[in-house]
Amino acid sequence: MTVRTRIAPSPTGDPHVGTAYIALFNLCFARLHGGQFVLRIEDTDRQRSTAESENMILDSLRWLGLDWDEGPDVGGPHGPYRQSERGAIYAQHAERLLESGHAFKCYRTSEELDALREERRAAGLHLALKPRDLALDPDEQRKREAGGYPYVIRMQVPSEGVCVVQDMLRGEIEVDWAQVDAQILMKSDGMPTYHLANVVDDHLMGITHVLRGEEWINSAPKHQLLYEYFGWPMPQLCHMPLLRNPDKSKLSKRKNPTSINYYRRMGFLPQAVTNYLGRMGWSMPDEREKFTLEEMMAHFDLQRVSLGGPVFELDKLSWLNGVYIREDLDDAALLQALREWAFNEAYVGQILPQIRPRITTLSEAMPLAGHFFAGLPEISEKSFDGVTLERDTLVALLQFLVWRLETIPRWEKEELLDQVKLLAGHFELKMKAFLAPVFIAVTGSAHSTSVLDAMTILGSDVTRARLRHAIEVLGGVSKKQAKRLEKQYREL
Ligand code: GLU
Repeated sequence: MTVRTRIAPSPTGDPHVGTAYIALFNLCFARLHGGQFVLRIEDTDRQRSTAESENMILDSLRWLGLDWDEGPDVGGPHGPYRQSERGAIYAQHAERLLESGHAFKCYRTSEELDALREERRAAGLHLALKPRDLALDPDEQRKREAGGYPYVIRMQVPSEGVCVVQDMLRGEIEVDWAQVDAQILMKSDGMPTYHLANVVDDHLMGITHVLRGEEWINSAPKHQLLYEYFGWPMPQLCHMPLLRNPDKSKLSKRKNPTSINYYRRMGFLPQAVTNYLGRMGWSMPDEREKFTLEEMMAHFDLQRVSLGGPVFELDKLSWLNGVYIREDLDDAALLQALREWAFNEAYVGQILPQIRPRITTLSEAMPLAGHFFAGLPEISEKSFDGVTLERDTLVALLQFLVWRLETIPRWEKEELLDQVKLLAGHFELKMKAFLAPVFIAVTGSAHSTSVLDAMTILGSDVTRARLRHAIEVLGGVSKKQAKRLEKQYREL
């Protein structure tokens, strides 16, 4: 048997370090066994998936050196590798399950579903809806079918008993069938859900081992059942421990930068990031901290993965990155790294129009544009002395801006301007007054290049990190304050 593993990201946002972490372990596992590693794009959520996100994910993984043998860009014998291009395959397979009686058409409206759940809640029962809960009176079912009402296709699931799933790291995982609902397989718009598409594709793409985050454990019983319904052998499952913030909560962008773009823009070396991700829950047999991807592949052993939640610590990554720069890069390589990072025509070219209106001698270029080549600016509470707003208002303003910026679909100047206008209106401030503290937070000084242009060029990750840094410098947001702010924010 040829080992085949895969990474199956959904292109719905920034390229997440968690995706790179799972990709790394899948890649190492495949290479250890002389197998193949596949990249599949799971873009069945048409509303949230974007080509931009897909490009960023591919680009980031490639930057990290996590190359795949088959994928949407490189092709391969099991394509297409983008789920949005495989619609007919899922429809056929859903049909097959309908014919074998393992799936059924469900005409329940969302109001009816809410009412059914409410009944169960009132009776103190588990909220998972079972086929028998969903069944309509036969006349009503016929009426809705004949009337061409919208429907979804759901899978049959047992009502009771225990489902046992084998996990390569955890051994037997037991899940009560009572908790498992009659999962939707095909939505009313004819698109498959993750569960159907994932199982069908893993099978058709010959995937033998599925290494994925532990957040998918609850899906495993449904997947196992689908493999049984189709009569297919199931890949071996391995649920990896989730990356955590230093406070042990799940790694989230609210607390830590989670986008690979951030690490790239901040000047981390790809080999240091990949090495650090390899230290997440795993160690080399000799416990050394610094190792290359090739060394990790050569010594890889899944049994060395420890299940205690690995903590992703920025300080440790920074330390390791420094070691890489100092030990591994000679002057020529360091110069090359700097070029790739920011000292290149594409990046500098964006900055020239910013300094042109203000520059008198060339020696002013760096003072004017230095912040484009920096990480977090050196600011303190005093930096905001010239801003006349109360501290609480100031913090609220910066925090609301961070939250708004987290949600915008495209990082473009017009979008940023819209958000700033909206918030300036909310705080009843003129644009200039609103932007004054933003200026300091983002560029580190009160006089610099245009702040909206700077934000556009710096990108979402660095901008948000700088705004968050300013909030910290101003004393941070306590839990209580955060609750209050969130409430006000929701009312915006
Ligand atoms: N599309 C899923 C994700 O975004 C894949 C989960 C899996 O590996 O099964 O993580």
